[in-house]
Amino acid sequence: MSIFEGLEAAAETLRKADKIPEYKEILEAMGTIRGLEQRLHDAAQKIRSLEAEIEKRSVVDGPLPPFGYFFDKQHPDSPLCPKCYQAKDSQLSFMGPAKSWSGGIRRACRICGLLIYEEEMDSNAAPARQRRPYSPFS
Ligand SMILES: [Zn+2]
Repeated sequence: MSIFEGLEAAAETLRKADKIPEYKEILEAMGTIRGLEQRLHDAAQKIRSLEAEIEKRSVVDGPLPPFGYFFDKQHPDSPLCPKCYQAKDSQLSFMGPAKSWSGGIRRACRICGLLIYEEEMDSNAAPARQRRPYSPFS
């Protein structure tokens, strides 16, 4: 006999004996137990989802100095975007290839566009903000 069958039988006995307050107490207790069962079920589901998340993260290393990249252990030579990886929905996005840029070397995330300079730009090159602003009238 399950806990609910036992309680239902007890409730029915009380109802037949016209013990309505006690009958209602048992119904309330059954409602409370059903609520707890639901919460237990939800918590078990949450645990499974967190375990899957941990499993997913255990194959990734990082953030590693000097650039803060994460690395999928199966692709140790291809850095992952730290911004995409640390986002709420945690995506594995490979950074693009290292490219020369204004005397420096940078990689760009293929998904969010994050730029990471692995070598600073040439300090003699004029930074973009010091160049003359674009004007449609000149
Ligand atoms: Zn990204």
